[in-house]
Amino acid sequence: MTSLSDLPLRADLVGRTPYGAPQLDVSVALNVNENTHRIPEEVAIDIVQRLAAAVLSVNRYPDREFTGLREALANYIQRGVTPAQIWAANGSNEVLQHIFQAFGGPGRTAMGFVPTYSMYPLIAEGTGTGYIAIQRANRYELSPELVTEAIAQHKPNIVMLCSPNNPTGTPLGLEVIEAAYDAVAEYGGILVVDEAYAEFAHDTSVTAINLLASRPNLLVSRTLSKAFAFAGARVGYLMADPAVIDALRLVRLPYHLSAFTQAAAEAALAHSDALLANVDDIRTQRDRIVLELVEMGLDVYRTDANFVLFGGLADPAAVWQSLLDQDVLVRNVGIPGTLRVTAGTAAETGAFLNALRMVLGK
Ligand code: PMP
Repeated sequence: MTSLSDLPLRADLVGRTPYGAPQLDVSVALNVNENTHRIPEEVAIDIVQRLAAAVLSVNRYPDREFTGLREALANYIQRGVTPAQIWAANGSNEVLQHIFQAFGGPGRTAMGFVPTYSMYPLIAEGTGTGYIAIQRANRYELSPELVTEAIAQHKPNIVMLCSPNNPTGTPLGLEVIEAAYDAVAEYGGILVVDEAYAEFAHDTSVTAINLLASRPNLLVSRTLSKAFAFAGARVGYLMADPAVIDALRLVRLPYHLSAFTQAAAEAALAHSDALLANVDDIRTQRDRIVLELVEMGLDVYRTDANFVLFGGLADPAAVWQSLLDQDVLVRNVGIPGTLRVTAGTAAETGAFLNALRMVLGK
């Protein structure tokens, strides 16, 4: 066997490390912001029936335009969004990759406001797009001034705004998104609002989807991975002007969404009420984590997502390991003094809080 360093790898990939949240076998896994609730049995049965129907025509390529799925997504989103404004792919990660392939690339740049989702720079690297990291302000908040100044200075081809932001949980006011849009529209850039965790917000009516009308360079991405408890199926989607969707058709691989993915996703959307039934409980657990961590004297960041970033830890790596020793897996995202935890079921959340109290002697 040869080693990686012996291969004629692209120069810009030499020495890079792949995305790598640990996948460990633990009883309480609260490290990658999944929905830890299993999907209801009646939904599982309907999915299996639809997969069984799909397998009968698996000799043929699937619908390249995933028409049924786009209709089901438009029907779920409402707010005047039509199927022609919808794109989907294998997770919103692939949606983001399509955006970078179409609007980024060699000689072009993307901008992110850090700390933010760690895949943005990796997708930039993979597509040969430059990445400009702008530091967030105090408590990882963003203001219209901070965002517009950075955009006006660097004029990136793609601006990434994540709301609520991973890994900090910070929501964005629509005034920040509107200001960012006006700034990119000045020179013809693309603004992407990544709303992977939107369904967990305290006020779900605040969404960039409401800004889509008359903003042709605004792209809003979402996913079934989180609120819908569908991470294993790999389905993410995007809403934008139909011309943007045409641009993404130029870079997708033909038939990128398998017949099984389409069938499973359509089934999930047909049962959206049942799948989203646990969102309220997850919000309650998130708010419980915030309250109890504050009681423990920790420094808790404002969050609108299904996870909480907390600081005030002298040695986060040691706390991470001690929690793991108690079979609880959280995430060390590399922000000094902090760890990030996903809100699980009441029992999982309780197990995390008890384990942390033990570790910290609180
Ligand atoms: N955006 C953000 C902010 C995320 O945190 C994640 C997953 N951790 C994704 C996108 C990608 O999710 P998926 O590919 O499962 O849709």
